[in-house]
Amino acid sequence: MESLPCKGCKGMCCGPVPITQQERVKIKKAIRKMPAKQRLELRNQERFPGTCIFFDERHDRCGIHSVRPSICKAFGFYKNLVCFKSPQTASTQKYEATEQPIGLLSVDFTWKDFD
Ligand code: SF4
Ligand code: SF4
Repeated sequence: MESLPCKGCKGMCCGPVPITQQERVKIKKAIRKMPAKQRLELRNQERFPGTCIFFDERHDRCGIHSVRPSICKAFGFYKNLVCFKSPQTASTQKYEATEQPIGLLSVDFTWKDFD
């Protein structure tokens, strides 16, 4: 799969995203497994209002990359999830969630729900 030019974007597309119950559980497990120092460092970073609570500003990347929600994995690759920096990467297919979301990460679920 073609990759996206994410370095330097500083989480421009990382705002509140819908999550499913399964994703919530997976993220919670991963956060709990993080070394305390790393978890605190990620948790206490200053972020622009509206930026995802798990965006790692310091390293310019997703702080929970291996367990990020499926919509984050799909972003940039579907016609309804187009990356403005690389619109040609999107396919002509429409992304459709396979499971019903339980709410928005960063709005309905914040750090206190994960650690
Ligand atoms: S998906 Fe696009 S907008 Fe989002 S960080 Fe990557 S290049 Fe930037
Ligand atoms: S979970 Fe990761 S990829 Fe998804 S919006 Fe948050 S920081 Fe971005």
